[in-house]
Amino acid sequence: MPDFSTQREHMVATQIETRGVAAPRVLDAMRAVPREAFVMEAMREHAYDDSPLPIGAGQTLSQPYIVALMAEAAELTSDSRVLEIGTGSGYAAAVLGRIAAEVWSVERHAELADSARRRLAELGYANIHVRHGDGTLGWPEHMPFDAILVAAGSPEVPSALLEQLDLNGRLVIPVGADPGLQQLMRIRRSPDGDFQRESLGGVRFVPLIGEGGWRS
Ligand code: SAH
Repeated sequence: MPDFSTQREHMVATQIETRGVAAPRVLDAMRAVPREAFVMEAMREHAYDDSPLPIGAGQTLSQPYIVALMAEAAELTSDSRVLEIGTGSGYAAAVLGRIAAEVWSVERHAELADSARRRLAELGYANIHVRHGDGTLGWPEHMPFDAILVAAGSPEVPSALLEQLDLNGRLVIPVGADPGLQQLMRIRRSPDGDFQRESLGGVRFVPLIGEGGWRS
């Protein structure tokens, strides 16, 4: 049986801290969430590799560094109310759930939503709520959000997500006209409601498919 906690410490030191992620709450969360519990049995030995991993339904669990980078970019505090689009395995939701107060996460594939919900409950994450649906429409019943993180690439920023972002909130989303290549954007909503965009660099995510994203 490999020692996963040693692998986890090594992952944070060699993949995340060295690349400049420094927020203590993010590093602590990455040291705590058992990534091996979110991947298929046959992939467990690769759980801490510096790469994305398949999770079924043609989808992937993001590379650890990308999860950490997005969590840091969202500037979460222990009071934050967070919306995640693209639950996938539930791994990133678990990381966000350790940093923030409450996480609402939407997944387009019913079977992924169901298995993520079950897994998160088994691991004891009581502050994470998973729903099956089109995340490009957000989760209006729980708006406004202090932070919104989108784990799939979109041709444009879905307007519903801008509307559901609180004043002073941050939306982190990969945006690009090419379905396989995006710029990771951080969009801040100012106290008077304006939006300011900045790019955090090039990334590759699976496509965001829905009304406000790519049409399938
Ligand atoms: N954060 C995930 C990785 C997600 S991969 C993890 O930690 O495992 C991106 C996910 O976004 C996929 O599961 C995909 O099905 C989902 N997705 C794509 N378009 C979506 C949409 N419109 N609404 C919700 N989820 C969507």
